[in-house]
Amino acid sequence: MINQNIIWIGIQESEIAQTATLFSGSITIFGTNKNGNYAFDKEYNLRYNYNIDNDLWIDFVNQSARKIIQHYPNCLFILYYPMDVTYYDHIVTERIICSNDIHELDLWDNKFRCRDWIGNDIPTIKNKVCYSEKIKENIPDKLLDGQKFVVQGEYSCGGSETWLLTKDSLYDVFAKLESKKKYSISPYIKNNISVNIHLIIYQNEVLLFPPSIQLISNNSLYFNYQGADFITYHHLPKKIRNKVQHYSSIIGERLRRSGYRGVCGIDYIITQSEVFFLEINPRFQSSTFLLNFALQDVGQNISIQHLHMDAFMHTKCQFSIPSLKVNYSFYKYFYSYDNETALKYFEKNAKAFDEVLYISDNLSWNSELEDGTYLYKLVFKRNISAISHDFSLIIHPNLLIDKCIAELQNLESQMLELKIMLLSHGITMSLDAIEYLEQTSGINYEEFSALDLTINNKYYINAPYKTNLTQLSPFQIKIKNNTTWLFYYDTKLALANIRGIDTLSSKISRSGIKYSEFTYLGQDRLRIFHRLGCFFKQKECGCGFCDLENDNRKLTFETIKEAINAYENSPNIHHYLIGGGAQYPQDDFKSICTIAEYLKNKDSKSIYLMSLPPANKRTLNKLKQAGITEVSFNIEIFDRKIAKSYMPGKGEIPIQVYFDALKYAVKLWGKNGSVRTIFIVGLESKDSLLKGIEKVCKIGVSPILSLFKPIENTRLSHLLPLPDDEILDIVIRTEQLCKRYGVTLGPNCIYCEDNTLKITL
Ligand code: SF4
Repeated sequence: MINQNIIWIGIQESEIAQTATLFSGSITIFGTNKNGNYAFDKEYNLRYNYNIDNDLWIDFVNQSARKIIQHYPNCLFILYYPMDVTYYDHIVTERIICSNDIHELDLWDNKFRCRDWIGNDIPTIKNKVCYSEKIKENIPDKLLDGQKFVVQGEYSCGGSETWLLTKDSLYDVFAKLESKKKYSISPYIKNNISVNIHLIIYQNEVLLFPPSIQLISNNSLYFNYQGADFITYHHLPKKIRNKVQHYSSIIGERLRRSGYRGVCGIDYIITQSEVFFLEINPRFQSSTFLLNFALQDVGQNISIQHLHMDAFMHTKCQFSIPSLKVNYSFYKYFYSYDNETALKYFEKNAKAFDEVLYISDNLSWNSELEDGTYLYKLVFKRNISAISHDFSLIIHPNLLIDKCIAELQNLESQMLELKIMLLSHGITMSLDAIEYLEQTSGINYEEFSALDLTINNKYYINAPYKTNLTQLSPFQIKIKNNTTWLFYYDTKLALANIRGIDTLSSKISRSGIKYSEFTYLGQDRLRIFHRLGCFFKQKECGCGFCDLENDNRKLTFETIKEAINAYENSPNIHHYLIGGGAQYPQDDFKSICTIAEYLKNKDSKSIYLMSLPPANKRTLNKLKQAGITEVSFNIEIFDRKIAKSYMPGKGEIPIQVYFDALKYAVKLWGKNGSVRTIFIVGLESKDSLLKGIEKVCKIGVSPILSLFKPIENTRLSHLLPLPDDEILDIVIRTEQLCKRYGVTLGPNCIYCEDNTLKITL
């Protein structure tokens, strides 16, 4: 490409890990300080917050460049962040290549001017630019009304100079605003998603790369760029993605005509219906390295850095780039003294987890670490975020290490919060706990990828295990003196017994079907399937969240009877559940009645039926006569449009069929919690969910809240549970509705509430 030694000047050495032999060396803030890398953090034994200007860094670049030039007198430099060029000594600047004119750069980097420049062509967020004094004078009254604003500096980026202005952050934000300086102020859009796209601009063409969703955290004051998710981007509505593409082509064309060359990024804020231009970043992006991963995946020995240089040397791209699929996401972590224990614990988990690539640019915890400095980043080959039904971004709960909704010092009064966290974060086990349990009771988790925990001998919780990034959970089972305990990071929380393996489950019946294929021994009940497989799976319209396999084998009553008899001496069984995959919606429930009658005649334990609602109300009389004592016909998703989309078969059953069956069931079994319906929390908007809950409460039915858990290899595996505080809010509101209408939150049994959002104190 260029027959001279090229040196990268950037932030992290890992930015150029996928650039093959393009660079002979690098000068970076974070790096190994080996093999041609000059790393500031190693030289000064200090990791500083790079969002804040640091003169030492500029000196370091100048000094390191001198050393490199002694070694490679003809070397050239390429900058990650070309706007720094004015600060460097001429010995550096005269060797910088592939950089745009600094005055032009200033226009594109200036957030205010850039919005004016592009504002007639592309929708931009409504904003006002004014002096800090004006903001301080005019805004406070509006904040009292509950309005929120975003205040941004002229050259803001990443985590610097972008603040959320609310009545709570007012004094902190005002303290940051410099007098006689201009800031832009815009209304805060609550439900929005931030998107970034890379462009490479040539003299005669513009290349657009796959966009990503930006993962931005905001505490009460700052917005912080934490990572990117290229996979979740594909789950945005098509019309939105088309707009991003269209607007990016327009901006790229304008940049091309203005003489801009090389790489740049464009940020947008998107809402459910519109895409708003936010800013141009005339530089490489934090997520550039993931595009380089993708280029490698398709066998291209080139990187975005190669293409950036190519754009300065040729009028059109000299490489043939196949259509690129970026199956990556990443999340990065910054130091905070308050979170040091959690950050170290999390780092240890991440390093031990083979589905994550840990990159730290040779972090040493012995260095001085400034608050806010970069520590490490994790790369995933899956999505780590999801778009909620109200169009906000959910970040995987296990990545948000500083979010805890429970006061752990006061656990007994916060068991609901703990349960919510355990259900959504899942759990890990220390190696010695695994070894101990394997040698004693065995570990029962494979059926539902979850552990059955009993906390302090009285709370039952079914915590996801070895699935959906639970390997990064802050909760861990550890063993001390042959007793298993639940820990949150390093804090011991409670005694935690773990249910062992049911040895009968692996037995093969006379018909050749394993017991575990149609029975499941829970904490205190035996679940019996009335059939194998599911009618809707057979018709290829199964639910998007269900991993039940299609199974056409016939399950006879004789086989079911055999298993029931085999379990008859089990001390754990206090009641029965008849459930399993859905049957034909017009089914007469004969086989279910046969099982119920058999159980009724066997002993006096209660029999719970969970099934589709019978099409004919009279069937319910037969079920009662057969011995069924409790029923649940699960609405699951109240918003029927979403129900049809997520459950293309079951969602077609009219909601009225559910209500007719539930209403009649209340007549037969009473308004005492014996008639229930499950709602899945996280598959529809909160409003719609609560409407559905209220409607069933009104007719005397007990709602059960089941948290949505993404299951691998299902159509909805890309979704994530709601944030913990949202889940808590839904539970609290549901409890209020139950109280208002005099029904109980289901289920009635404390053992069976283990996988529901209920805890009986
Ligand atoms: S009805 Fe849906 S959730 Fe139930 S077994 Fe069939 S596919 Fe699974």
